[in-house]
Amino acid sequence: MSDVLQTPEASAPLSAEELAAKQAKKAAFETNKLSKRLHRQVGQAITDFNMIEEGDKVMVCLSGGKDSYSMLDILMNLQKRAPIKFELIAVNLDQKQPGFPAEVLPNYLRQVGVPFHIETQDTYSIVKNIIPEGKTMCSLCSRLRRGILYRVARELGCNKIALGHHRDDMVVTLLMNMFFGSRMKGMPPKLVSDNGEFVVIRPLAYVAEDDLVRWSEHKAFPIIPCSLCGSQENLQRVLTKKMIREWDKEYPGRIDNMFSAMGNITLSHMMDRKLHPFESIKATGIPDPQGDKAFDEDEESCATPTAAAGKEGQTVRLMWDDSKA
Ligand code: SF4
Repeated sequence: MSDVLQTPEASAPLSAEELAAKQAKKAAFETNKLSKRLHRQVGQAITDFNMIEEGDKVMVCLSGGKDSYSMLDILMNLQKRAPIKFELIAVNLDQKQPGFPAEVLPNYLRQVGVPFHIETQDTYSIVKNIIPEGKTMCSLCSRLRRGILYRVARELGCNKIALGHHRDDMVVTLLMNMFFGSRMKGMPPKLVSDNGEFVVIRPLAYVAEDDLVRWSEHKAFPIIPCSLCGSQENLQRVLTKKMIREWDKEYPGRIDNMFSAMGNITLSHMMDRKLHPFESIKATGIPDPQGDKAFDEDEESCATPTAAAGKEGQTVRLMWDDSKA
């Protein structure tokens, strides 16, 4: 019976060339899907949070890591097809860390044809001189870096600053603030800078880190290692990221659900007295499905996962059109 059903083609073993061609086709298909997903998600985040508007000049902060390279790459692609006009300028801060390959970024940026500025400031020596050996340098280093980048943005006439944080960074930040700061505070996709001067945007807000790893490998970005300063990445951040990755492996979709939850908050079911007037609550006599179920267990904890971020069917201005990809 099986002989009848099996075509000769199906049973014939593939030659090495045929196998390689089949694998290459599959890889190209997957990369195409990844490209469409990334551009769609970035376009959607930009639209949902109105990140980029007509006439904006966006300073795209480039560290030389996979996230910022991907952000610049995708923004440049979206810019070409956007119905609005905005400028992008890539900016890197060369902090004079030992071994920093100063030519890598300028060469890459010239090659892709984006306007750029490399700001050279030896913050490495400043931090080394001030912070005792063995202590973490990140807090002073980032404060110095922030001040310099604001000045550069001002000098370049930029009104927006784009940072390469992604979905996983945002979830980890929320958990870190809960675990160590006793507060429900995440990392927003858009916010005014602390000096009040710029709008900071995170166009990769909807993007999963794994996708950025794969995109970066596909595009072969010339990655600059981030450990040149010799400082350890915040250990608790590393552990929290590991934890959510393990959860996600065991319960696929958990990171997405946590991320979606950040945009789906029911203030009456939290306990922040500044945000909800608990003191004035009175019985209304009107049934409310959102009201307290009193003694019932909360069934929502086992309900279908919430819709992932980036709903379909909305009118958008910077949407990636798959048919043109
Ligand atoms: S890891 Fe190094 S470069 Fe990054 S913030 Fe910390 S000290 Fe600065």
